[in-house]
Amino acid sequence: MASLTPERKTALRREMEALLGKGAVLSDPDELLVYESDGLTLFRALADFVAFPQTAEHVAALVRLANREGMPFVARGAGTGLSGGCLPAEGGLVISLMRMNRVLEVDYANQYAVVEPGLVNLHLSWAVGPNGFYYAPDPSSQQACTIGGNIANNSGGPHTLKYGVTTNHVLGLEVVLPDGELMWIGGKTRDPQGYDLTGLFVGSEGTFGIATKIIVRILKKPQAVKTVLAVFDEIDQGSNAVSAIIARGLIPAAMEMIDHLTIEAVEDAFGCGYPRDAAAALLIEVDGIAAGMDEQATRIMEACREAGARDVRVARDAEERELLWKGRKSAFGAFGRISPAYMVMDGVIPRSKLPYVLRRVNEIAASYGLRVGNVFHAGDGNLHPNLLYDPREPGIEARVLAAGGDILRVCAEVGGSISGEHGIGLEKADYMPLIFSGADIECMRRLKHAFNPSGLCNPGKMFPSRKACGEAGIAYRPHPIEEKGLAQRF
Ligand SMILES: Cc1cc2nc3c(=O)[nH]c(=O)nc-3n(C[C@H](O)[C@H](O)[C@H](O)COP(=O)(O)OP(=O)(O)OC[C@H]3O[C@@H](n4cnc5c(N)ncnc54)[C@H](O)[C@@H]3O)c2cc1C
Repeated sequence: MASLTPERKTALRREMEALLGKGAVLSDPDELLVYESDGLTLFRALADFVAFPQTAEHVAALVRLANREGMPFVARGAGTGLSGGCLPAEGGLVISLMRMNRVLEVDYANQYAVVEPGLVNLHLSWAVGPNGFYYAPDPSSQQACTIGGNIANNSGGPHTLKYGVTTNHVLGLEVVLPDGELMWIGGKTRDPQGYDLTGLFVGSEGTFGIATKIIVRILKKPQAVKTVLAVFDEIDQGSNAVSAIIARGLIPAAMEMIDHLTIEAVEDAFGCGYPRDAAAALLIEVDGIAAGMDEQATRIMEACREAGARDVRVARDAEERELLWKGRKSAFGAFGRISPAYMVMDGVIPRSKLPYVLRRVNEIAASYGLRVGNVFHAGDGNLHPNLLYDPREPGIEARVLAAGGDILRVCAEVGGSISGEHGIGLEKADYMPLIFSGADIECMRRLKHAFNPSGLCNPGKMFPSRKACGEAGIAYRPHPIEEKGLAQRF
């Protein structure tokens, strides 16, 4: 988009304000700074406008206006994404869904809720909790992230091992397509006829349009929960315990690993009861009907001891359980106490490769002179190495990105994938060829083009940008990060 003259910018702001009301549009560069990145602060780009719609019709009108102006637009939830997904990479309009945050309907008999996209994930469980229900997908950011953002990234969380990712909990969506058309896909019942467009939209990272209403499943709270903490002197022992538990035919609700550096950060920040001298701790949870729960916990503890755990115990009460989970769920935040900045990586590997890959992760970080803390969904083989760095050090950003790239290569080499749950966004777009062939990528580009032919909806995300062949009608434009020399092109 050609840059806007000050007069045009003022005129467009007035037009948007006439639509949404005063105070619902930002265009002052100081105010826009807040929206220049998501949780991946290595990549920044300024929008021309941030608008705060309150209805689906508002969103549709904003999208139509953006189309008329040839202006890129991107949906934004809470901005907790970790792959630069809601970054306004090419400027234009950020459509913040934060004012669309209501629970519109709850049907307990049929176990669904209809919500607006800006509803904070945890607030849905709070809303249905008094009736004995909850919403299962629980990213560690659930106190802040929105259900709309979860839909776009097909988010997971600690309980993905047993309950699946977001797509397993979405029945239908009202969406504004990239040309401004408003439509429903899916519905309130299972398996509507025709293509599974809901399944397609979930995980499309805001490139197929903007979700404005979401029908999600809600679940009955489990009758009983047991949380086990297993402590290891060697990280390999913890990794082996993960495979040993699954090999016994047990499917815990969650199986999370936290390594030594992370334990130190968490204990400094919150004092959650993780032993500071441990090389690794596994937080393992089983839930369901009360009968048989003790036996499951016992078998898990046996597997951990056999793998070499020096200490294994069940959380005494709800208070201790909550504290252990607080440590796990706040671990990313706790890194802020031991490092001025960090980049959270997100890769997936076969569980049995955990010992090898964790060793490689540590070697790679060391070879770039970086500290790394690992806290992750071990049961899913979903790694989160956190590369710690000080942004004041010259050249450090390129080193962090290069180390991240090497880690993704190792994940791909062992038969894994470059994203478990945080999405590809801008961060990993150029790494897609590690796991997809040219034909695969072309097929996905064509799919995107069917929804988003103008390319104005969240440009620059998910696909490697190409110099040679034009993207199904969309001209090649270098990424801002490529221009800065921060990203590598395949
Ligand atoms: C401390 C911390 C812990 C985390 N733990 C986890 C975890 O355990 N599991 C996990 O999966 N993720 C985790 N994340 C990553 C992040 O929270 C998730 O990706 C989350 O789903 C992003 O939600 P958001 O509302 O912040 O979305 P944003 O960051 O605002 O946006 C993310 C993407 O969604 C798109 N989007 C937003 N709203 C809509 C909409 N209504 N319609 C269409 N597209 C939309 C945006 O364009 C963007 O592409 C964590 C992040 C942090 C900071």
